[in-house]
Amino acid sequence: MADPKGFMSTPREEYPRRPVEERVRDWNEVYVPGALLPIIGRQADRCMDCGVPFCHEACPLGNLIPEWNDLVSRDDWRAASDRLHATNNFPEFTGRLCPAPCEAGCVLAINQPAVTIKNVEVAIADRAWADGFTPPSPPERLSGRTVAVVGSGPTGLAAAQQLTRAGHTVAVYERADRIGGLLRYGIPAFKMEKRHLDRRLEQMRAEGTKFRTSTTIGRDLTASELRMRYDAVVLATGATAWRELDVTGRELSGIHQAMEYLPFADRVCEGDLEVSPLSAAGKHVVIVGGGDTGADCLGTAVREGAASVTQLDIYPQPEEERDHDVEPWPTYPKIYRLSAAHEEARDLETAPAAHADARLFAASTLHFTGDARGRVRSLHLVEVDAGRRPVPGSGRTLPADLVLLALGFSGPDRHDGLIDQLGLALDPRGTITRDAGFATNVPRVYAAGDAARGQSLIVWAIAEGRAVAAAVDRALTGISSLPAPIGPFDRPMTA
Ligand SMILES: Cc1cc2nc3c(=O)[nH]c(=O)nc-3n(C[C@H](O)[C@H](O)[C@H](O)COP(=O)(O)OP(=O)(O)OC[C@H]3O[C@@H](n4cnc5c(N)ncnc54)[C@H](O)[C@@H]3O)c2cc1C
Ligand code: SF4
Repeated sequence: MADPKGFMSTPREEYPRRPVEERVRDWNEVYVPGALLPIIGRQADRCMDCGVPFCHEACPLGNLIPEWNDLVSRDDWRAASDRLHATNNFPEFTGRLCPAPCEAGCVLAINQPAVTIKNVEVAIADRAWADGFTPPSPPERLSGRTVAVVGSGPTGLAAAQQLTRAGHTVAVYERADRIGGLLRYGIPAFKMEKRHLDRRLEQMRAEGTKFRTSTTIGRDLTASELRMRYDAVVLATGATAWRELDVTGRELSGIHQAMEYLPFADRVCEGDLEVSPLSAAGKHVVIVGGGDTGADCLGTAVREGAASVTQLDIYPQPEEERDHDVEPWPTYPKIYRLSAAHEEARDLETAPAAHADARLFAASTLHFTGDARGRVRSLHLVEVDAGRRPVPGSGRTLPADLVLLALGFSGPDRHDGLIDQLGLALDPRGTITRDAGFATNVPRVYAAGDAARGQSLIVWAIAEGRAVAAAVDRALTGISSLPAPIGPFDRPMTA
């Protein structure tokens, strides 16, 4: 800690966002390029280098946060990069996308704004790339063992990088035409530009990881063929089976799942399409679901030029401040948060009625009505109380030409036959069952990430990938020095 009184003299200052009117005209990240570095040293100086750093405990990766805060405040970027990469394969992803449970757990957050840990992380990661501190790190010797990783999201990529660096020959199989899982198709470019993903993939290729795209395991290659070819198989297939909304009118055209809608926008950014076939341009859009996926639909619809956008959340509007009795520090509280997309909706006044940031809370969808051609035209809703009972007289109708369902995901997709071909045991939620060593009920087959944990976060996915790699390495060689930051049954800190 270069300045022991930094937290008293320096107020929290975050990475500034570009003006709303400017950023909604493009798909680039919302931040002002170059604006972070000049402020980040003083921000890192706010860290108190706590004897018991709760930030570190709150992060599933066990990131060495006080250490890299100290190194940044001392301007030692190379050492900061080394410490950062010691626990995280892809800090440029988490530094952009993580909701930062570490900041909720920061000791400063007990009575003042937390250290801007996520901003420090992304500053180090970007500086490391700019200054060449992250060259490929191929293994010195090959083990002669082979591993197939199925799925190329953050779990599969972290597992593949760890196993490749440990000397195993690793091939990543992906059913999509590009590598990246939800980082590629799903998470919008305005949250993380795809060039960050491409740069990591280049590094991984140079280290020796092989990538096989447009290959669905279960269809293009059977599960048993894969088991025969490889010494171990890691399933990192995600939890992409979406939840449905069973109400009258669901069959009308113009009602789509968020994950049918979002990937088209990514394809426009990739240059595959000129315009999304589901573009919101000129349409009245209603997003059903108040979570982050819904917010991603909101930011996308705003950029596509929607006539209006409303996001429905069945939960009541959260409080601005943490309720210390219900969700005490250092847990991650459910409080009112204004994402970049909500800020855009608020400033552009895109909601048809006066909902400051496009969100309508405590709103439950009753049914849809359409026109003579079977196209959705309206969404009918009612306000609900805390017990989700309709509030009498609260019914209302919203214009809706495009409805996006963002209701979460129930578990791994079963359409490709992989789960049934292997005879994998599933838990009651539909996710893949594994033991304390990440092993499924099928010999030499391991499961990690959302496919086994259920819908989660990038930071957990990377932690899962690192941990399953350690388990596989140990099974293949009898011993492993790879770190295992979490066990399969670890969960986020709650009260
Ligand atoms: C729209 C959206 C936005 C999100 N935003 C954030 C965010 O901002 N921050 C955050 O922390 N988390 C976010 N999340 C959650 C986060 O993206 C996931 O928790 C994370 O991607 C899970 O990683 P994974 O590798 O386990 O699975 P995924 O990223 O889902 O990757 C699984 C991959 O497996 C492939 N696959 C599946 N079956 C097969 C098969 N049979 N053969 C070959 N390939 C197969 C899939 O095509 C996919 O590419 C978001 C989720 C969504 C849906
Ligand atoms: S809890 Fe906050 S102040 Fe303490 S070491 Fe972590 S980042 Fe620094």
